Amino acid sequence: MSYDNDNIFAKILRGEIPSEMVYQDADTFAFMDIMPRAEGHVLVIPKSPARNMLDASPEQLAACLATVQKVSQAMLKAFGAAGITLQQFNEAAGGQEVFHLHYHVLPRHEGIRLNPPGVMGDQDLIKASADKIRTALQA
Ligand code: 5GP
Repeated sequence: MSYDNDNIFAKILRGEIPSEMVYQDADTFAFMDIMPRAEGHVLVIPKSPARNMLDASPEQLAACLATVQKVSQAMLKAFGAAGITLQQFNEAAGGQEVFHLHYHVLPRHEGIRLNPPGVMGDQDLIKASADKIRTALQA
């Protein structure tokens, strides 16, 4: 399977579709998921093309995980989270819907289940969560 330059996350990286960015560096981009499965649900992606973990380079994977760790630590502060769930799906059979490598980073609290998938979030709440994460990253 090859990389499709017109996938939604490629369009976000090119600025053709808006996104609520919380962090970026030379190699990675982190932004809010529009269908959050938990308050503060962030997606971390490489800036360079990779369909998923199966075709990504070791450097892309390492860069993404460094950003995942940075964002996760900020989430503990931003939401008083007790833990973090990290999800990453590969190919349709593996649950992947957008074919640009991405990690789901989900702040978790004891006894609180994830929201069901496929439900659009409230844009104001998503923006408020992004503000909290950005503030924690700057601290
Ligand atoms: P996956 O491919 O791992 O199943 O999930 C893709 C994720 O991308 C879903 O959690 C979905 O909510 C999110 N998503 C799909 N389209 C957009 C979009 O246009 N903007 C943002 N921020 N997230 C999106």
